[in-house]
Amino acid sequence: MQARKRIGLVAHDAKKAELLDWAREHRDQLAAHELWATGTTGAMLADALDLDIHRLKSGPLGGDQQMGALIAEGRLDALIFFADPMSAMPHDVDVKALVRLSTVYNIVLACNHTTADFVMGSPLFDTPYTPASTDYSSYLERVVPSRIPES
Ligand code: PGA
Repeated sequence: MQARKRIGLVAHDAKKAELLDWAREHRDQLAAHELWATGTTGAMLADALDLDIHRLKSGPLGGDQQMGALIAEGRLDALIFFADPMSAMPHDVDVKALVRLSTVYNIVLACNHTTADFVMGSPLFDTPYTPASTDYSSYLERVVPSRIPES
């Protein structure tokens, strides 16, 4: 990871005001990094804080999946995700996939306000960092049947 991190920002509706307050507090630090956000979250932050943000589709309309694709392609270093644990979501599977891919690719993942504060307060955040490698070669090289057996 370079000193300039590539950061994803997502907030569920019940958490958007909280993310906005958090981002306002960290505005100048965030502005030094490359920012990506799901559609509504990104519009809110860009308008209120005058930040340059790459906006994806709205989360329930595929934005979470687009964010996941950025992670899978090695194009995101950190995800700040203000998740709402108290509401049923139509896109619950997309939310779970986003958290899972963050784990698979060992990126920084903050799913609540306190963790996001700790992440921004870390001296590692504004310096280059080499993450532990995620080696999936044994999975990729596993033996699979070369053909489907006839019944
Ligand atoms: P939104 O999506 O920023 O477009 O509201 C967030 C989400 O995943 O619910």
